[in-house]
Amino acid sequence: MTMVNILVVEDEDAISTLIQFTLEQAGFTVQSISSVEKALPLLQSQLPDVILLDWMLPGISGLQFIKYLRDTDRTRDLPIILLTARGEETDKEQGLNLGADDYITKPFSPRELVARINALLRRRAPQKTSTPLHVHELELNPQQQRVQVNGQIIALGPSEFKLLHFFMTHPDRIYTRRQLLDLVWGDHVFIEERTVDVHIRRLRRGLETVGYDYLIQTVRGSGYRFACNQE
Ligand code: CA
Repeated sequence: MTMVNILVVEDEDAISTLIQFTLEQAGFTVQSISSVEKALPLLQSQLPDVILLDWMLPGISGLQFIKYLRDTDRTRDLPIILLTARGEETDKEQGLNLGADDYITKPFSPRELVARINALLRRRAPQKTSTPLHVHELELNPQQQRVQVNGQIIALGPSEFKLLHFFMTHPDRIYTRRQLLDLVWGDHVFIEERTVDVHIRRLRRGLETVGYDYLIQTVRGSGYRFACNQE
């Protein structure tokens, strides 16, 4: 299954423990910390897929942190869910205005929390969800890590699988090698751009066995495009 990393910033131990348990049960990888000050060095090394951020924190508040994340190039698009206390309507509005993608009011049910995270991932990072995908006869099943055409399984390595998953959730747009590295391998990974070409070549070779290698187009001087709506 595709690994989804969630960073939880929450200073109340009981809530933090409950969230961590709930999310791990749902198959997410979770890191919990108690303040924004602790989050900053973590973000330097690796960006999570989603941040669950408490509003009321000691030191730098959740809102100040959202503002910082949205003002910073690298974290501008990072999916954020704000955790607010009951009834703070103006807080919610302020949070959404500053750039939170969603908010959840405490106390919340574990089911609601997981549903909100999945909804956000579907919107913002569909390559991280486990929804099966179809393009023509090509079927990709994230849960089984399997790609097939009419029952014929296509052998792909893990990187080629991730690349195809990304392409199938982001069709008909051109991506540069750098963007593909950031979006498919993660922006903390220092790989040469040429490596993308190697994985593209392998992916094409796999798709060639079922006649779908034409879906991966090279756009001269720009990058690559998964062209599923053109012949
Ligand atoms: Ca708090």
